[in-house]
Amino acid sequence: MNDLEPIRFATIADRRPLVIAGPCSAETEAQTLDTARRLAAEGIRIFRAGLWKPRTKPGGFEGVGAEGLAWLRRVKRETGMYTATEVATRDHVAAALEGEVDLLWIGARTVANPFAMQEIADSLCGKDVPVLVKNPVSPDLELWIGAIERLYNAGVRRMGAIHRGFTPIDRSLYRNHPMWALPIELHRRLPGLQLFCDPSHIGGRRELIAPLAQQAMDIGFDGLIVEAHSMPDNAWSDSEQQITPEALACIIHKLIIREKSASSGSLHELRARIDKIDDQLLELLAQRMDVARDIGRYKKEHAMPILQAQRYEELLARRTAQAAALNMDREFMRTILRAIHEESIRQQIELSGKGE
Ligand code: PEP
Ligand code: MN
Repeated sequence: MNDLEPIRFATIADRRPLVIAGPCSAETEAQTLDTARRLAAEGIRIFRAGLWKPRTKPGGFEGVGAEGLAWLRRVKRETGMYTATEVATRDHVAAALEGEVDLLWIGARTVANPFAMQEIADSLCGKDVPVLVKNPVSPDLELWIGAIERLYNAGVRRMGAIHRGFTPIDRSLYRNHPMWALPIELHRRLPGLQLFCDPSHIGGRRELIAPLAQQAMDIGFDGLIVEAHSMPDNAWSDSEQQITPEALACIIHKLIIREKSASSGSLHELRARIDKIDDQLLELLAQRMDVARDIGRYKKEHAMPILQAQRYEELLARRTAQAAALNMDREFMRTILRAIHEESIRQQIELSGKGE
């Protein structure tokens, strides 16, 4: 996929971040237009509004549907903004294109369903409209890339990805856990794909929008998609995470944007130090695996089981506490130890089958 094209709209071509903003849902014509006018007054050039709202449970506000397309047309006509909406079926695609919506996005619940994605891809075949693909609700990079591939195979080239976080399995600060490693890996795999961050759906709370947007900029995201509403407290969906157009402008102005290709002398030196440390880490890991294999031989000779659960639990508890004391996240240390342990076990199993 090396012929992907960036999503450019004439007047905002090279400004970073590219900002898409607007309400979670278009609710009424007045709310849609008021929000759009105030965003336009702050210099925002792309207006988002959900018309068809996929809800986790029935009974919530499911969007105004095709009726809102006329409101988006008015937004274009009266403010000169570009418009964007979410599509989840072939009928949505047809209606949005008929309504001259400029940019489509596909929501997290839809991206998780290959049948729905294929239907959307088929309906986009031969159409020249840019599309943004949100990450699926679960942290499954291949599913995300698969959705992008379906669109690519249908001929879509102006494409971007939106990072909106992943459903947490337990209580979390975030509505959707950011797990930044996934969008970073997506960027490594598909460097031509523009990356947008949706701090509204990651955070789920107004006060998290600014820090999350800054983190996205620090990582090098190209743009942001943020929920903004003329009266956030009265919003019919996602009211806790919506902010006024003026608050959004304030957040954007305060963002610190680093140059993407900073390669000063000192950065060079720091990277060289990191490379050296990585060399040492690998050496140490290899030594640790040697010892693990010796232990494997011992267990085999003494007919002991490979997995010694109690020893592993003790090791996890001790090292995660030590990590915390050394300013590292416990969960991070658990992930590393789990990976190392899995590889040790794999090597011991391999050895026990070899008759060494
Ligand atoms: C939205 O953008 O309003 C939305 C429904 O988001 P997501 O698909 O990320 O939940
Ligand atoms: Mn929303």
